Amino acid sequence: MKDTGKHQGLRNQLVTVLEQKGITDKNVLEAIRKIPRHLFLNSSFEDYAYQDKAFPIGAGQTISQPYTVAFQSQLLEVEKEHKILEIGTGSGYQTAVLCTMGAKVYSVERQNELFKTTSLLLPKLGIRPKLLTFGDGYKGLPNYAPFDSIIVTAGAPIIPKPLMAQLKIGGRLVIPLGEEHQIMTMLIRKNETQFEKHEFGEFRFVPLLENKN
Ligand code: SAH
Repeated sequence: MKDTGKHQGLRNQLVTVLEQKGITDKNVLEAIRKIPRHLFLNSSFEDYAYQDKAFPIGAGQTISQPYTVAFQSQLLEVEKEHKILEIGTGSGYQTAVLCTMGAKVYSVERQNELFKTTSLLLPKLGIRPKLLTFGDGYKGLPNYAPFDSIIVTAGAPIIPKPLMAQLKIGGRLVIPLGEEHQIMTMLIRKNETQFEKHEFGEFRFVPLLENKN
């Protein structure tokens, strides 16, 4: 597993592209500048790692496009020590971005193969989420709730109720909503019963699948 000056140069270029596309959160950009994204892809696809594109990672899943990762991370307004729940660990790249920003990350993945690969990869890169777990993200992680924010990284047909219940007051839930394509949606929890909804245009994700462990 090598990270070279060439890779660093490509990452600097990627950060410039993300800035041009409107990403302004310095901590998000610094995390992307640091994390060796090529090590999250099969080595034969290394050349694609720093293009702003999604890519297959096995088990029919994709590593999200860097812009999408940056956009969702920016919406979370991450602060150091924030406790964040991620649904859809996948390659672990989004997890790595949030950990590098200083968050305490709890992440759920429903594909066992990906769960295992990513659980081995992240510690090798020095990235230590609080918890990586295999399970159905629709249920969230009630034993670890409440969370400062929740990020869903697969296209959800509905907002799972348990996720809303596991959000702190003032917390943010960022979730791409829809079947064919998704509208990036953010709920801010105002109090026990009220959530304020914001929408941010169209994105494309693999589907959030229910109860198929
Ligand atoms: N954050 C990932 C994105 C991976 S794509 C990354 O940066 O690479 C979305 C992931 O969500 C896939 O790995 C898929 O297996 C997972 N997923 C789909 N439905 C799920 C569910 N109900 N619970 C947990 N994970 C789910």
